[in-house]
Amino acid sequence: MGNDLIKYSIPIHSLKEGVHELTYSIEQRFIEENKIEGVLDANLELVAVYTKQTHLHSMVFTISGELQVECDRCLDAYELPIQISQDVLIRVAESNDRFEENEEVLTVNAQENEINFTHLVYEAIMLAIPIKKVHPEGYCNEDMLQYISQEEIDNNEDSDSTWDSLKNIFDN
Ligand SMILES: [Zn+2]
Repeated sequence: MGNDLIKYSIPIHSLKEGVHELTYSIEQRFIEENKIEGVLDANLELVAVYTKQTHLHSMVFTISGELQVECDRCLDAYELPIQISQDVLIRVAESNDRFEENEEVLTVNAQENEINFTHLVYEAIMLAIPIKKVHPEGYCNEDMLQYISQEEIDNNEDSDSTWDSLKNIFDN
């Protein structure tokens, strides 16, 4: 394994002009390396369709499959389906051009051998994970929900007694 981080890149100079399809897998190791929280397991396929013409490159990548995540309500694991498609414009720059990068446009130096789009994959996965992760209605672990709601009742009783003791202080 070594210390090399997982990288998603396209060897642009070895590609002939035309349309190329490259397939990669995204596994839990990538999730862990990038410290994406709340994901227990990953089973995703990444397909990049790269179009290379003399002065114009473009790419569409799709990510599909499932992430196993923890339900925020009952804490059981469930499968979150993922389906992402993103267009990326590629600007091939001469070496004296200013090098800039943002979400939609990747600038690659004409002398570089590959285009690295790892950070776009990371951002796309981050955006696909909802802030609140819950089972579809009716699929939560009922036993756990009962246990949690009992805990909440207990906690409320605790805060009531805290309030009572505060009231006692003020009353005195
Ligand atoms: Zn649940």
